[in-house]
Amino acid sequence: MQATEPIRERVEEVRGRIAEAAVEGGRRPEDVRFLVASKYYEPEQIGALADAGIGLLGENKTDDLVRKQEMFPDAFEWHFIGHLQRRKAKEAVGRVKLIHSVDSVRLVQELAKRAPEGGIEVLVQVNVSGEEAKYGVPEGEVEPLLEAAAGTGGAVRVRGFSTLAPLVADPEDVRYVFAKLRAIRDRLGAGWAPDFDLSELSMGMSNDYAVAVKEGATIVRIGRALIEEARVR
Ligand SMILES: *Cc1c(COP(=O)(O)O)cnc(C)c1O
Repeated sequence: MQATEPIRERVEEVRGRIAEAAVEGGRRPEDVRFLVASKYYEPEQIGALADAGIGLLGENKTDDLVRKQEMFPDAFEWHFIGHLQRRKAKEAVGRVKLIHSVDSVRLVQELAKRAPEGGIEVLVQVNVSGEEAKYGVPEGEVEPLLEAAAGTGGAVRVRGFSTLAPLVADPEDVRYVFAKLRAIRDRLGAGWAPDFDLSELSMGMSNDYAVAVKEGATIVRIGRALIEEARVR
């Protein structure tokens, strides 16, 4: 048990900071889900996350998803958070509850083809900052994706948006990224109801999750904060 204590402590610490940020942002802590990025963990360490009360994992690579999820099919809700290549789409659908990284009409179409009965839920990944290296579509290409998804007859159901903020020393410097994604959600959410419930905002990682929660994140994706010495405030 000893080995899992540091993980448990860090999980508690992050959980506390999420709750604190939610309250500061005028939100309810229970409206923010705590997803752990499982790419940092080997299968044998993943059990410790369940012991620490984590119920939601996000994997970046389909090979790792398959390998890890087969070992823990029921202990967690699994999401796919990495860049999804079309030829790998079939490995993600059916294994995950939510794909955070839909970024092309062709991927929407591929997912529709592969979707299980009842469809697959996805987030549209938006490149808010315009950084070249970041995945996601520019704001102007979001609506064509929603239209493509609407055309799948329920096979691909968009639940909201995700983004990756640039890595900066002071997370306040990327607050605008989160505020912008929320504004996109608010603007499109009204127009697309009731076809899609676009309420989800997957934003905020180890270095900036507190700011993201204050700006409305409904899912934060945490990796390094549980491993390195916590250095976020
Ligand atoms: C790794 C990863 C995270 C977690 O990042 P940390 O900075 O380690 O918290 C979140 N989202 C995605 C898409 C990732 O690949």
